[in-house]
Amino acid sequence: MHNQTVGRLGHLRETARLIRKHLGESKVLQEQYAAVTRISHLFARPAFYEISDRCNLKCEGCYYFDPATFRDGEADRLRFDADWESFLAQERARGVTMLYFLGAEPALEEKRLIAAGRYFQRGNLGTNGTIRLDPEIPFRISISAWAADEADDARLRGGSTLRKALRLYQGDSRAIVLYTVNPTNIDQVPAMARACRDHGLPLTFNLWSPTASMLARLRSFTGNDNAFFRISTPQRSLVLGDGDLIRVRETLAQAIEDFPDTVIYSHAYNRWSTRPEPLYALDPDTGIAEDCGSRITGSFRYYGMTLEAQPVKCCTPAMDCRSCRMYSGGWSSQFSPRPEQVATRSTFAEWLEMVLTIGRIFLRPELDPEAFVGTPVHRTSMESV
Ligand code: SF4
Ligand code: SF4
Repeated sequence: MHNQTVGRLGHLRETARLIRKHLGESKVLQEQYAAVTRISHLFARPAFYEISDRCNLKCEGCYYFDPATFRDGEADRLRFDADWESFLAQERARGVTMLYFLGAEPALEEKRLIAAGRYFQRGNLGTNGTIRLDPEIPFRISISAWAADEADDARLRGGSTLRKALRLYQGDSRAIVLYTVNPTNIDQVPAMARACRDHGLPLTFNLWSPTASMLARLRSFTGNDNAFFRISTPQRSLVLGDGDLIRVRETLAQAIEDFPDTVIYSHAYNRWSTRPEPLYALDPDTGIAEDCGSRITGSFRYYGMTLEAQPVKCCTPAMDCRSCRMYSGGWSSQFSPRPEQVATRSTFAEWLEMVLTIGRIFLRPELDPEAFVGTPVHRTSMESV
């Protein structure tokens, strides 16, 4: 047997031994581990579907409309709609467990989402929240937010959306607000948490990350445009520097403590995702993250607007892996524990809490209540572990 394989098997055996040891010492951990195992199965075979190539906003650095990867004119709307239901039936037969509906703006294609709800129960769609989606749509709805302050919202997104989104989705159990943090809006985290709390909506976080072409334009800056590169300059952009990451870490840690009934996040994930070095092991030739859980490999699929599987690296192919701190790649990289996460009972408990947090972000409480056991969300019975 190859040395590497022997090493991997040894590592797996040691991980399994340590997990058994920790579980043998705590009933609470046993219960959480059972929930984590079930949650992991629900995410075992994900697929990503572009269902819209239109959007009513112009967020700075939008990865969908990135000039290097956006394929304008590819969508054939009539053909998409004619084929969509038979395609969904094939995907169900293929055993897809979790669907991610992407855009541009999926909410502009409500009928496609209603149809998908006839074939699948579990899924997640990212929307800017300016359109109230039909209650028949069963999926988790992630509402992107970029600023609590109205003027900043408009500056960053080309239009102010938050107030409308909060009003439209107030108290909707499908919805969760996803606040994308950047160097200019970190201070607005408490205001955002208060606004979500007051509208009965949970809140989680994403770290703004640049596309490769955005970084190239910042390196050889020749001016802004009127679209997705309106406000960034080499002197002041949305790229998180080392000092910003420390501020993000401290601010989000405080938000977890101050808004326990609203914020869905994990201290361990917050520490990991704000470390100064790149989050992933990068292939030295391509610069692509080798160990990112969002990579489209194995049974994972990414479908473009032609309903054909695309040979992309991940669900955000325009992003630069070295700087990527997107929540999609970050959370999907947490399903298997790293050696340091099983080393002690307390690090193992933190890993369990991370996977439970994934469930709370991407699943719905009605369908998968085990992900929400012990809520207020981040305070599962860690104290009694
Ligand atoms: S909401 Fe913003 S980030 Fe999303 S597709 Fe529209 S412009 Fe891009
Ligand atoms: S999600 Fe993963 S593969 Fe995609 S850009 Fe980020 S690090 Fe790279």
